[in-house]
Parts: sequence; structure tokens; C-alpha cells
Amino acid sequence: MSNQEQSSLERFRLKRNLERLRAREGRGTELVTLYVPPGRQISEVVAMLNNEYGTATNIKSNTTRKNVQDAITRVTQRVKLFKQVPKNGLVIFCGAIPQNGPGSEKIETYVISPPEPIQIYLYRCDAKFHTEHLEDFLKEKETYAIIVLDSSDASFATVRGKSLDVIKQITSGIPGKFRAGGQSARRFDRQREAKMQEYFNRIGEHADEIFLPIENLKGILLGGPGPTKFDFEKGNYLHYTLKEKILATLDTSYVDEHGVKEVLDKSEDILRRIRYVEEKKIIQKFLREIGQDTGLASYGEEEVRRQLNNGIVDTLLLSEDIDLVRVTTKCNACDYTEQKTMKPYEVTEYEQQVSNSSCSKCNVPSVAISETIELIDELAELAEQTGTNVEVLSAETEEGQMLKKSFGGIGAILRYKFNG
Ligand SMILES: [Zn+2]
Repeated sequence: MSNQEQSSLERFRLKRNLERLRAREGRGTELVTLYVPPGRQISEVVAMLNNEYGTATNIKSNTTRKNVQDAITRVTQRVKLFKQVPKNGLVIFCGAIPQNGPGSEKIETYVISPPEPIQIYLYRCDAKFHTEHLEDFLKEKETYAIIVLDSSDASFATVRGKSLDVIKQITSGIPGKFRAGGQSARRFDRQREAKMQEYFNRIGEHADEIFLPIENLKGILLGGPGPTKFDFEKGNYLHYTLKEKILATLDTSYVDEHGVKEVLDKSEDILRRIRYVEEKKIIQKFLREIGQDTGLASYGEEEVRRQLNNGIVDTLLLSEDIDLVRVTTKCNACDYTEQKTMKPYEVTEYEQQVSNSSCSKCNVPSVAISETIELIDELAELAEQTGTNVEVLSAETEEGQMLKKSFGGIGAILRYKFNG
């Protein structure tokens, strides 16, 4: 599985989790947030939590005290399941969430494995979960280079996510376009041309020095007022591996950090379009297999699930807008389980329906919901078990819309034709 594919799924999971957590609100300050960075001792964290449990005995409201202590107990239990803090750290959210008005609180626990190491050690008890220290992981990870230039100045910057770093600024030392009186026009132009070459070479050298060592540099954006940037782009001033990475040339009014910011503002669109091009390609491949009836693609939840179980899916395509959950019911008498896909808002009614029914195998009226999981997660897990690539795709492109509307948001490109 390539990094790109892994990250579209990982990003999606984190995004969904954070959306869900942000929407949770406690009655009072009853929601526990815990961030533990790698390197901490589990025993130290447990001792801290025990201490917090003790402090919570001072809470006056009986309900609040009980909810807070219950949450701390759950968090402590979860922490104790680990022999050591995972390599990227550990984040736990836990608290009593009102399900349906006052008195309907249920303790919900979320354990999150951060995609990258966290630095912060934090315990909070608040009316909301503190997700802000995880939000950064959702930002664009790739590094882009920006060069803005005109005939007098040039600036070099990198941008990673939302962080912008102007690394170097140089001046050309080239005088303006207008020669002094008495100077030969041809000689002036020749000198100016030579100075321009020298300046472009210098820009190239600085760019190589700054940008070549950057691992996984995703692309370069050129900017500046007037035609100088195009002259620079046309020549061979950059190392060929850098030149290949030029994504766009943009007009700006400035060549200092304001110019860099102008490029950044305009580039957001460009970078998004680059991801869209990747998404389009994946879906187009799927559509081609369908259109040519090659038997190398399938779609729809049931069909795709079958092919996943057969282990013949090469790439699983999922619309990120699929708003469905997979509910498992279990009979407590005979352990018989059944699965059903539904809209999230249908779960409560289904739960009641199930509790009034009997097991379809042993007929004992002891059936209950044992698990509710996002359909996307369920299918992605199934895919991961068979080494299938998973692509979570936006509906921002025409192709993405088609995947969502015409194919229920679920498609598969198969490794080979299946006869069965
Ligand atoms: Zn049963």
C-alpha cells in the first residue's frame, strides 16, 4: 500500500473522529481529555489519574462527581491496557454524553492513535473534548517550494501545511531599464543581459541549495510581476529534478514575503486541483472498466463486500460522503450475529425493534446491538485484511460525484475477473 493511499484513509478516519468529538458536549465540565506523549511511563500516567480521581471527590454536584469519576476510571482502565505508551503517543477522550436530553448520559470512550508523534502532555476536564492538538495532523503534509522574482529581487520560501517559511531573499543589482545619457544602447542591453544571466544562475544555485535537500518536495510554485519569471522558467537554471517539479507560474504584485503570500493564497486552489487530478484518475480507471464491461470492476455495497471477502479487490474506492453505519446484533443466548447497514439516525429505532424481537436462530428474545461502526471503516478494515488499496475520495470532482450518485459511493477495481 503506498503512502498516498494509506494517508487518504488515515486522514479520513482522523477527520471523522475529530468531527464527532467536536460535536460532543457534556452537561457540565465532565468530559476528560488525555494526551500522553511517547516516552512517558504508564505508571506515571496512572498515578496522575488516581490523583485527579481524588481531587474529583470535592465536586459538589452528585451527578457531576459521579460522571467525572466514572470517566477517570474508564480512562485509567484504558491506559492500563498498554504496557508502554505507543510510539506516537496516546490520546483518550472519555465522558458522559447526553444521548437524548438530560438524564440520558452514556459514557463514551475514544482512543486515538495519532498519525505522528504528539509532544503535549495534557489532562483536562471540561464541557468539551480538547481536539485542537490533533487538528494539525489534518493539514496538508507535503512541502512545496515557492520562488518569487522580478529583475531586481527574488525570495525563496517553503510551505508545509499552513506554515510558511521565507528562507532567503536576494537582489539582482541590475539597474533599471533606462540607460544613462551618453551610453551606447547596444552596450547597455548586452551588459544588462549578461547581468540577468548571472542573476538567474544565482537564483538557480540558491534554489538548488535550499530545495534539493528537502525530502518529498511535492512541487515548486513560481511567482512574480511581469515576464521575468517566465524567462527564468524557460532557461535551465534549476537542477533538472527541481525544474520537473514546477507546478505553476503565478502573477504577483510583490517579490518579497508579500509576494510569497500571494502565491500561497493563489496556490491553495492549485494544490487542491492536484489532489483532484489524482482522484479523477483513480475513478476514471474504475469507470473505464465498467464502461468496457471488462469484468474487472464492481460496485455497490453487497457486491463489493463479496469481492473483498473473495480477496480479489485491487483498489477499493469509497466516497467520503457515505453516511452509513454497519450495525451488528448479537443473541446473548446462542451468540448468533447479524449485520445490517443503515443511516446513523435509524440506529435508535432499530435498537428498540431488536430488543422486542427474538433471535432468528434459537428464538430466544435476547438480541441486542453489539457493535455500530462507520460503513467506510468496516469496508476499509475488510480491505486491509486482504492487502487491498483503499482510496477515500471526495465528491468535489465530476468523477467523484458520479461515484457517489451512480454507484452508491462504493466501487472496486479487481485484480482479476471473478466467475462465481
Ligand atoms: Zn440465539
